[in-house]
Amino acid sequence: MAGEPQADCLFCKIVAGEVPATIVRETDTTVAFRDINPQAPTHVLVIPKVHYPDAASLAAAEPQVLADILRESREVAAEDKVEDRGYRVVFNTGAGAGQTVFHAHLHVLGGRGLQWPPG
Ligand code: 5GP
Repeated sequence: MAGEPQADCLFCKIVAGEVPATIVRETDTTVAFRDINPQAPTHVLVIPKVHYPDAASLAAAEPQVLADILRESREVAAEDKVEDRGYRVVFNTGAGAGQTVFHAHLHVLGGRGLQWPPG
């Protein structure tokens, strides 16, 4: 069924507590944890507890959870005190855009100057 945990999904395993992660926030619908390979002083992934392969499919099926993720990204930025300097939120969507884990996730990047456009 749509949104059900997938046995072979790394981020579903983090949601289930089967793979360790440095969790910074959790709500009924989301988990936020530090990226294992941080690209900035703050690099947190905010993910839905439900499984959808990318942000587009989550938006189509459960848009309220997408709103939860964005709300949580603001809390992460506030807790890490990166709001003043600015921070970036990114959904890589599709392998061509650099997506490597096919469970929707929002990158929250901050704590250093960020260039535009990204590579
Ligand atoms: P993507 O490239 O799909 O947009 O982002 C996936 C992110 O997941 C990458 O930034 C990568 O470093 C991170 N990642 C991959 N495996 C793990 C893991 O086991 N634990 C954590 N915390 N992050 C991971």
